[in-house]
Amino acid sequence: MTILGSGGCTVIPKPLCQCRVCEEARRKGTPYERTGPSAFIHDENILIDTPAEITYQLNRSLIERIDYLIFTHLDPDHVEGFRVVEQVSLDFRTWYAFPEKQIQLILPEPLSERVRNIRSVYGPLIDFYVNRGFIKCTAFREKIRVGSIQITAIPVDRGDQIAFIYVYEKEGIRVVYAPCDIKPFPEDRKEVQGADLLVIQPGIFEAGLKHGFTYPADHISRTTLYTFNETLDLAKRIQAGRVLFIHLEEYWNRSYDDYLAIREGFDNIQFAYDGMQIRI
Ligand SMILES: [Zn+2]
Ligand SMILES: [Zn+2]
Repeated sequence: MTILGSGGCTVIPKPLCQCRVCEEARRKGTPYERTGPSAFIHDENILIDTPAEITYQLNRSLIERIDYLIFTHLDPDHVEGFRVVEQVSLDFRTWYAFPEKQIQLILPEPLSERVRNIRSVYGPLIDFYVNRGFIKCTAFREKIRVGSIQITAIPVDRGDQIAFIYVYEKEGIRVVYAPCDIKPFPEDRKEVQGADLLVIQPGIFEAGLKHGFTYPADHISRTTLYTFNETLDLAKRIQAGRVLFIHLEEYWNRSYDDYLAIREGFDNIQFAYDGMQIRI
């Protein structure tokens, strides 16, 4: 698996920002800079989410083929780069796709309906992409097999059922991928328990934030985000073998080196960086 982008809904460097973390990222580049949340599973060429920087990320990580695209949910930071399907498969002579470059968009049913809401001035993007052959859509209920990988979609019960946690399983090895909108985490589901790797966002850091800010007990972000300590507890409760933190927000005010320091004292956690490769 490659973490194409390790940032969250705010990237590092944040445009125009002159904070310590952003200035260092501007100066040093990767692994200090963090683009939007995206990952790639090489076994079956599965792209997970398309942030605004996705074309850059695919080039940077030397990805040569995409067979499947899946979205965790349809928030802008995960779908802004949806048009990458056109960039990848367009034959400029005909304005149709090269057939061999067509990407299969696999989505749980609730998302496959809502994806139509992503529109340009001409209508739903998906209509154009399907019509031109850039993508082919496959909706599924709870599970889908993609080559050698079984994918289970578990909705996060926030009333609307439109954010999903995915469990990728191959030959008894399980990866739980939960980057964003994961509260309340469906920890009673057996599929998420004892995973070999849990890829998850760290949630709110309570101290060391910019502006000397501390989150009040009733802050709205606490309804959607766990704290970092709560996330560590969660990982322990579900007995994740390894934990990889992604979706790292600029606002957490922590640099690549700061995360390395936090990692000390734990034997099974890591913080992702752009282009990071993990073998499970
Ligand atoms: Zn900054
Ligand atoms: Zn997000």
